[in-house]
Amino acid sequence: MTDTHPTSDPASGPSLENLLHESRSFPPSEEFAAQANAKADLYEKASADRLEFWAEQARELLTWKTPFTETLDWSGAPVARWFADGTLNAAYNAVDRHVEAGHGDRVAIHFEGEPGDTRTVTYADLQQEVSRAANALTTLGVQTGDRVIIYLPMLVESVVAMLACARVGAAHSVVFGGFSADALRSRIADAEATLVITADGGYRRGAPSALKPAVDEALAPKDGADPTSVRKVLVVRRTEQDVDWVEGRDVWWHEALAAESDQHEPVAVEAEHPLFILYTSGTTGKPKGILHTTGGYLTQTAYTHKNVFDLKPETDVYWCTADIGWVTGHSYVVYGPLVNGATQVLYEGTPDTPHRGRWWELIEKYKVSILYTAPTAIRTCMKWGDDIPGGFDLSSLRVLGSVGEPINPEAWMWYRRVIGGDRTPIVDTWWQTETGAIMISPLPGVTAAKPGSAQVPLPGIVATVVDDEAKPVPDGGGGYLVLSEPWPSMLRGIWGDLERYKDTYWSRFENLYFAGDGAKKDEDGDIWLLGRVDDVMNVSGHRLSTTEIESALVSNPIVAEAAVVGANDETTGQAVVAFVILRGEHANRASTPEGAAEVQKELRDHVGKEIGPIAKPKKILVVAELPKTRSGKIMRRLLRDVAEDRAVGDATTLADSSVMDLITAGLQAPA
Ligand code: ATP
Ligand code: MG
Repeated sequence: MTDTHPTSDPASGPSLENLLHESRSFPPSEEFAAQANAKADLYEKASADRLEFWAEQARELLTWKTPFTETLDWSGAPVARWFADGTLNAAYNAVDRHVEAGHGDRVAIHFEGEPGDTRTVTYADLQQEVSRAANALTTLGVQTGDRVIIYLPMLVESVVAMLACARVGAAHSVVFGGFSADALRSRIADAEATLVITADGGYRRGAPSALKPAVDEALAPKDGADPTSVRKVLVVRRTEQDVDWVEGRDVWWHEALAAESDQHEPVAVEAEHPLFILYTSGTTGKPKGILHTTGGYLTQTAYTHKNVFDLKPETDVYWCTADIGWVTGHSYVVYGPLVNGATQVLYEGTPDTPHRGRWWELIEKYKVSILYTAPTAIRTCMKWGDDIPGGFDLSSLRVLGSVGEPINPEAWMWYRRVIGGDRTPIVDTWWQTETGAIMISPLPGVTAAKPGSAQVPLPGIVATVVDDEAKPVPDGGGGYLVLSEPWPSMLRGIWGDLERYKDTYWSRFENLYFAGDGAKKDEDGDIWLLGRVDDVMNVSGHRLSTTEIESALVSNPIVAEAAVVGANDETTGQAVVAFVILRGEHANRASTPEGAAEVQKELRDHVGKEIGPIAKPKKILVVAELPKTRSGKIMRRLLRDVAEDRAVGDATTLADSSVMDLITAGLQAPA
């Protein structure tokens, strides 16, 4: 239940007010706890000797070509070196060794295309296909240390392409299919890639959607700029739509692979060899090319995938709905699950094609037992109503995960009740492109979960909340989330820009990694994420969190989604402005001026009751859509532009660039 908390608790310090109170708690069932991979003693083991704990994970979860002797070298801080004198190959760890261990017949991927075509890929199949692709890359001139851009829909070939790069020791940089030619061009240039892997197109919302034209455009000379570094383009045939073809540059994927042997010797690389570069979502500004290396990254993705999701590779069917263009797709579709030998579902399309029950239908069909998705998807399904998932058998589910944004407590409750049958643990996992793997999360067999809180740093991770002076806040206080010890899957920098790396993450506080997120600690010491520091609002001297006000709005039954920003205000410094999407049957209520005024009043009163008068939005605007990144995160900075009547800023990483026009047009039109 949410209730009101005093707003001026001195213990909360100058950093962030601590407003919304949530007291529900869901301990794991005894049966679940008894069978869980991770028991409570994992915390003790990790804190007894943190580095030795990670070394054990690295030895236990991975197969090394040359064993490492040194765990962490932090002498070049803030660039860490983990397991640096060991060598290994990521694709070998993700594929070959499972075949060698006798699991070649195990299904690695149940692929489901949006039009309903399916493909079952075993670990043995994957080994052959990745080997052919690795040979093809070599034939096309890709060498160890090169960069390859992958611009593909969600296909088996996308996973194969990533693993083939890893197999030859080339770093991949996956760009979301559907990003514009300009976004693609700037990433190609920044990474100085020599090869692009793309497709003719993919299926989206019931129709083929072209991809290759964006690649052609991104590689065409522009403004007399330097010729591109790209020599070859490998094209997967998916939709069979017509494509322009550049002779000598473009090569069909299926032809290239057919010409190669299905045997390939993986290239053993040093643990610190680059595995990939991934550009962040760009929620707050210009994307950063985040660099990840091999040994530490694989250790922590495998460790978290095994313990946070309680994976049992022989019996579970795992499904992470993230696109491979997002870090979640890297760590929890490709590397974590495959290194652990999991069986997983890979789905090409959108949740509402051809109908709004598609995801639930897939869970029933493949008997999915672990589901990992994002709050934006959960809120959308809430908006569509309970009867849609209610029409499918979801009883195979046993663990549910959430990632990407703070999950509003009401969305968490809905997820558990409607999708999890009031039975499954939920893991709310906090992490970033930069952290490479999950950092803060409940352990499903150990932690009594609280709706809306990521709660505790995982065993082996040291995180805390500090105030402006870098002092840890007491329980009950709010401030900035920081990581105080290096972790194996941490970024090794921003590609080609060490200064920006130091500046962005290590200059705010000395010797602490600054995550950029606001957080509070509750009375039990559990961590609650409160939104980005850039989004924190200052209203009459009170620092308010976007997340808490949004969660209060979403807890009103007429609201499906909410985004809150602080807009300049002459009297209060900033004023709270809320953008809300109303739930289906209420959507029309705001279409007349009287209706809109009524909705405004109702919601302002609701926030006042849930949180306190200080948090009442000054303005509430009813909209049909919110601007989101391709990974489903709300881009508040664009809404701030609207609220402050400015031209809308850089929107190139939006999933749907027309949304901002829709919002500004809707607000200008007389209600
Ligand atoms: P950019 O850094 O370019 O602005 P981004 O931060 O959106 O983009 P990601 O690395 O995909 O790119 O997102 C990480 C951020 O997502 C975190 O810093 C946090 O703000 C948010 N986040 C992720 N998971 C959670 C979670 N479980 N709870 C709260 N916030 C989360
Ligand atoms: Mg970020």
